Amino acid sequence: MDRFFIPPEWFEGDSVIFQNGPSYQLIHVLRKKPQDRVIALDNTGWEYEIEMERFTGDSVKGRILNKSRPDTEPVINLTLYQALLKADNFELVLQKGVELGAIDFRPFISERCVVRRPDENKIDRWQKIVREAAEQCGRTRLPAVHPVVIFREACDQSAGNPAIIFWEEEENTRLSSVLKEPFFRESDSISIFIGPEGGFPSSEVEYARSRGIEPVSLGRRVLRAETAAIAAMSAVLYEKGELG
Ligand code: SAH
Repeated sequence: MDRFFIPPEWFEGDSVIFQNGPSYQLIHVLRKKPQDRVIALDNTGWEYEIEMERFTGDSVKGRILNKSRPDTEPVINLTLYQALLKADNFELVLQKGVELGAIDFRPFISERCVVRRPDENKIDRWQKIVREAAEQCGRTRLPAVHPVVIFREACDQSAGNPAIIFWEEEENTRLSSVLKEPFFRESDSISIFIGPEGGFPSSEVEYARSRGIEPVSLGRRVLRAETAAIAAMSAVLYEKGELG
């Protein structure tokens, strides 16, 4: 069944009024008719089965048939701090990150980024990619895409919570051993940092370390940034008991 994250204000008693993008989708793209059913999500963990009732010019009224709380959200809050990448790769990381189970995306600009600060439209587009991925893969929480910040600010944002910076030049510290440290093992939140195409200079890794972010290797091969992000998210989630 088609799924839609919608704002809580669209719920009224046992009705839902779809507006804007979702009503356009329902009327013009999916060509729904009265009595067809869809799922509405209010980003609180609940999902609602809705029967379409009335189609007016630009809105669709539906009736809530029942609600449930499916158990599809990960057991940890995984935040991906991702350096800006060339467009397609950044979008790929967002989409795959949502499917795998990240809950927050925090883009940043660092010294070796080749991409400049994106405009507002870009952020809207990223949010749309995230929403569509979340709807498609059955999530009940909508991951957030935060405003772009500079690298040091990103490090400061993560301070106090367990955080890992994946560094292509790290030779000693392995992900599996870091995740076994009590600080990581006992936390229900983890942040991970992935660099841009050009990687992290040691000065940035030193700053991260000063903020309590641990430099970690992802293995003996240098991965492309988008591969590294997907592999790192998968590995952390697997270690926490997600993904199988
Ligand atoms: N251009 C750089 C590589 C950058 S890879 C070089 O040739 O050295 C882009 C990002 O992916 C890195 O900054 C890091 O965050 C991550 N990454 C890729 N391979 C990694 C590895 N083996 N260990 C840890 N992080 C890695």
